[in-house]
Amino acid sequence: MIFQPKPSIISRSSWGSRTDTRVGTNRHGTRYIVIHHCAYNNSTIAARSEYEHMRVIQNQHMNDQGWSDIAYHYGIGKNGTIMEGRLFQYLSYASNTSPTYVDNNGIQVLMHGNFHVGNHFMNTSQRSKLIDLLSWLCYQYNISPSNIIGHRDNGASACPGDQIYSELTNIKNEVTMRVYGVQID
Ligand SMILES: [Zn+2]
Repeated sequence: MIFQPKPSIISRSSWGSRTDTRVGTNRHGTRYIVIHHCAYNNSTIAARSEYEHMRVIQNQHMNDQGWSDIAYHYGIGKNGTIMEGRLFQYLSYASNTSPTYVDNNGIQVLMHGNFHVGNHFMNTSQRSKLIDLLSWLCYQYNISPSNIIGHRDNGASACPGDQIYSELTNIKNEVTMRVYGVQID
């Protein structure tokens, strides 16, 4: 693969993350990257800072779901800021967002927004940062771009919304060009 630089990623402490409550380590292989949306109301997200929205999601997962941390490894905010989510060495644990094999081998990436209503598309910043992050993750963890999937590919869910899901082929093609320099069927 062609070298891909690590994009700028805001640390957990910078957005005000809580300490996770998990015990021990449970690192599995990294074979998939699973894309999600948060499905919160877009006007609600627009009224919050990106950091605040990460805290809201983490609180929901830890307080309401009883999980040990925010479920996602990375979040991309409304302005395209990439934020660190649950600690990367903890790829798999009880709060996994989709139930089967992929989750035990997947890096979970959250897009802030509800991409299942109306014509709410990723903005230019969100989309370009997603490509940057996916390209780096594929390079860093030797993941084939063909293994970038949407949550709905691995569970009964509308996630990551039609507007992102319909873009997945284009996104995978762009990442393939970044990491291989050519399209691979
Ligand atoms: Zn999801």
